[in-house]
Amino acid sequence: MNKLYDVIIAGAGPVGLFLAHELALANCAVLVLEKEPSAQMPWKSKPLGLRGVNSNSVEAFYRRGLLDALVDDADQRPQRPDKAIPFQFGGHFAGIMVNASQLDLARFPYRLAGPALYPAKTDMERICTALNHQVAKRGVTVVYGAEVTVLEQDADQVVVQAGGQHYQGRWLVGCDGGRSQVRKLAGFEFVGTEASCTGYSVHCELADPEKLAMGFQYTTNGLYVQASPGHLALMEYDGGRFDRSQEVTAAHFQAVLRRVSGTDVTVNSIQMAATFTDRCKQVTQYRQGRVLLAGDSAHIHSPLGAQGLNAGIGDALNLGWKLAATVKGRAPAALIDSYQSERHPVASWVLDWTRAQVACMAPGPQGEALAQLLRDLIQTDDGANHFLGKLWGLTLRYELGDSHPLVGASAPDLELTDGSRLGPKMADGQGLLVTLGDDRDLAGLCRGRAGLEYLALAAKDNLGLGAMLIRPDGIVAWVSEAGSPADLGAAQAAIARWFGQ
Ligand SMILES: Cc1cc2nc3c(=O)[nH]c(=O)nc-3n(C[C@H](O)[C@H](O)[C@H](O)COP(=O)(O)OP(=O)(O)OC[C@H]3O[C@@H](n4cnc5c(N)ncnc54)[C@H](O)[C@@H]3O)c2cc1C
Repeated sequence: MNKLYDVIIAGAGPVGLFLAHELALANCAVLVLEKEPSAQMPWKSKPLGLRGVNSNSVEAFYRRGLLDALVDDADQRPQRPDKAIPFQFGGHFAGIMVNASQLDLARFPYRLAGPALYPAKTDMERICTALNHQVAKRGVTVVYGAEVTVLEQDADQVVVQAGGQHYQGRWLVGCDGGRSQVRKLAGFEFVGTEASCTGYSVHCELADPEKLAMGFQYTTNGLYVQASPGHLALMEYDGGRFDRSQEVTAAHFQAVLRRVSGTDVTVNSIQMAATFTDRCKQVTQYRQGRVLLAGDSAHIHSPLGAQGLNAGIGDALNLGWKLAATVKGRAPAALIDSYQSERHPVASWVLDWTRAQVACMAPGPQGEALAQLLRDLIQTDDGANHFLGKLWGLTLRYELGDSHPLVGASAPDLELTDGSRLGPKMADGQGLLVTLGDDRDLAGLCRGRAGLEYLALAAKDNLGLGAMLIRPDGIVAWVSEAGSPADLGAAQAAIARWFGQ
């Protein structure tokens, strides 16, 4: 155990690998420890590994030059809804479809139509393969068959035991999923609500698939979704009783499926099965000394509404540059803890978003009444745009203490007069001070600063903006309006707050 890594990451899932990539961009020495023997895990591939990623996740990959690795098939690429088509799937809330054709971009003035505005479909295997490839190129060591089982920390470092070896790091980040060992070993407080149902995502062979309807089906005992024959997701309001360490046998799943669907469908065999519950829990603090958590290790909830991976990628994006600046000794004192103040409320919202859906889908007249009310609301233009804004992440904005609507939100993907766009200029993970026109005084503020680059750009439409300070995670930290001189003092203060004196 000679080498002292800057950061050890437990878990080579999508969040751990995305974080490793962010840290590697900033030249940190990173070690990833993964308990599974190899990167190939059957549950990560389609159909069980299929995942919807929202606009914020798509944008994160796009900005780092990884969008092509995230999605390839034409129908999985982010697609602009066609207004001429009366209904296009934009997501769902408790099985109630949200119509993307109702999207009104004028309501999201800084979100510009472009390659990364719309959600996409991908799968866990594809994400992890792409990220594994990228981190290997950037010198990250990933050790498989290395389950973190013991950790100790002091004021300077963390020592972990994994796969019979000891490893030393200045920091440890637990990205080890919903049943996180790191969370337990470091004594994080994990609070929330207990399960009321058990969910199943199953690929099976049915003797008589025609007995089940296709699509989302509310029933008197829960909900089932048949995406294609034998590819099923369902939730049973069983009080969360199913012991999830048990194997899902054909007999067990058939009994559940019959209860939920009210049919006498027959399950011949199970190809693959994953279970989940609607347990909603979140750590109260995202950091204990030199140990941090990100992704499912910090927050768990049901997959309703497809937000978990998005929340995790958002954590990694938010934490990566802050931790890197801390490791490099150039971070302002409070920077690392802004991870907690910015990301805790986001996951807290995700937990509530899934809780509300569980209430809405609950069998019985109360659930039905709530679902009908929401159905009516979601059909209105205001309702559809509210839900699209939340589901796609278009309304995400951190409270940074500035009332300008763009401060705390994602930087607009401006179209530039040379035909390029702003997004890909963030590929190397640096912060940017962007002027739309040249401003020598602002340029001077960046001179000699590590991690911050000055860019003078010409946009086809500058949206009324004169200059922006953009953090490495793409979040705008300061703006100046076009047509008036930039407030240099305010720009300087914002730079000091996020990039140090
Ligand atoms: C059926 C289903 C459908 C879903 N659909 C969506 C969707 O459409 N959109 C969406 O945004 N989210 C979705 N989610 C949620 C999403 O899959 C998770 O939020 C996401 O995988 C979390 O990523 P992670 O890297 O934090 O954790 P994980 O993906 O769980 O990865 C954790 C990694 O850590 C490893 N590990 C565990 N313990 C240790 C240890 N002690 N030491 C070392 N390694 C360890 C694990 O082997 C694993 O590789 C869905 C979830 C389910 C169950």
